[in-house]
Amino acid sequence: MARQLGENCRLCRREGMKLFLKGTRCSTEKCAFAKRPTPPGMHTRHSNKQSYYAMQLREKQKTKRTYGMMEAQFKRFFHVASKAKGITGRTLLQLLERRLDNVVYRALFAVSRDQARQMVRHGSIFIGKGRVDIPSYLVNVGEILTLKANDTRKKAIKSSIEIITKERSVPSWLDVDAENLTIKVVRLPEKEDLSMSVNEQLIVELYSK
Ligand code: SF4
Repeated sequence: MARQLGENCRLCRREGMKLFLKGTRCSTEKCAFAKRPTPPGMHTRHSNKQSYYAMQLREKQKTKRTYGMMEAQFKRFFHVASKAKGITGRTLLQLLERRLDNVVYRALFAVSRDQARQMVRHGSIFIGKGRVDIPSYLVNVGEILTLKANDTRKKAIKSSIEIITKERSVPSWLDVDAENLTIKVVRLPEKEDLSMSVNEQLIVELYSK
């Protein structure tokens, strides 16, 4: 399956913010953005002036890259959101946040969305009694996800959770049992539950042209 190209740290420098694409490294002094918070490229020019279109584009790129999506897939999500009842921007954010790979990441079972995607693709996640290996699967309220692995792997994941807990916490729309490695979806996510700030209206305007 296609995924975003480009070295992860370049994407953070391009967007002018940490996108947390490399797991625990992102919170250390090794973070490339912390060391060099300028856009990539040898002849980077700095300008305080940004057109409204550029703002819309950057907001979309930042959001798309955070969730590790390609343009076509991101656009499909927008299309679904625009056809659904309710406010398009809010629905789009909910759809993004409900992605299975994102849920595994937000539940602290993985250090990055990239790693969470691998876990899903490798068939480690069960919903109810069925294995779900599609990273873009959208979780629903009431579903219970279970991470299945051998004892050694489970032990490693539990140790990893203890470390990740020091850096971020589980959003309240998920109820995580770190001992049994299960996640219950207790409600739909809201904008306040996101791990970053997004101006979704800019994205809606960009795609509505
Ligand atoms: Fe971005 Fe820093 Fe993580 Fe690299 S290490 S992906 S620059 S947050």
